[in-house]
Amino acid sequence: MLHIGCHLSSSAGYLAMGKTALTIEADTFAFFTRNPRGGNVKPMNTEDAAALTELLRERNFAPLVAHAPYTYNLCSDKEANRDFARRAFREDLERLEYLPGNYCNFHPGCHMKQGSENGIRMIAEALDEILWEDMKTTVLLETMAGKGTEIGRSFEEIRAILDRTALGEKMGVCLDTCHVYDAGYDIVGEPDAVIEEFDRIIGLDRLKAIHINDSKNPFASHKDRHEKIGLGSIGTEGFERIINHPALRGLPFILETPNELDGYAAEIKLLREMQQAD
Ligand code: FE
Ligand code: FE
Ligand code: ZN
Repeated sequence: MLHIGCHLSSSAGYLAMGKTALTIEADTFAFFTRNPRGGNVKPMNTEDAAALTELLRERNFAPLVAHAPYTYNLCSDKEANRDFARRAFREDLERLEYLPGNYCNFHPGCHMKQGSENGIRMIAEALDEILWEDMKTTVLLETMAGKGTEIGRSFEEIRAILDRTALGEKMGVCLDTCHVYDAGYDIVGEPDAVIEEFDRIIGLDRLKAIHINDSKNPFASHKDRHEKIGLGSIGTEGFERIINHPALRGLPFILETPNELDGYAAEIKLLREMQQAD
């Protein structure tokens, strides 16, 4: 069973996202924990969260993959930005306690020319303040394309953050197909070698979710422009191998392709059809 869904708008609330997911044959989805530009947050509606939790259980959803705003930069060169990211991220995770057992993914950060070593240290220090022992959400680091000063463009950088965070053993990783291909991991030509490298450096037990996106740019271009499934440089055959790879089966796959809901429904159908029988 392929667990697949897409990024949904949270503007109508939690239960509404679950109902929308069902209309497009999704059994997982993503949503921003607050406005993607990192602005104010609506008061928490705990009844709405409980109603979604009930729906997820009844309809056998795979874990959801919430996304922290990409404006959070835990390793900014400006203290005010680091502070904002720490406080807002912590608040987002406190709110997610009302949707227990799901994932929350975030972009590690941009080191702003302070060097990746310093950036990794700042991210780990921030996570030590943000995470707590018995939290019900698993926080995921996203693999990045390596645009600008982005951290997380190599499996080694992801590993280093996990190693230096006190509660790092409770964290996981979300692999974005567009980002890793853009970062120079050839998941099209050598998927087995890339997955073997992930296992050797990070450990496949830490891989909790996949962002499934095609790329507008050629291999190793470090640009991060998502394309619709099959229309980019990864291509239909590439995705056929990715979704059927034995090491990835069973994970939640999240589409972040440039689509409206009907486009997502078509991609979910396409990927479900591509899935080979067990
Ligand atoms: Fe992301
Ligand atoms: Fe992504
Ligand atoms: Zn991206």
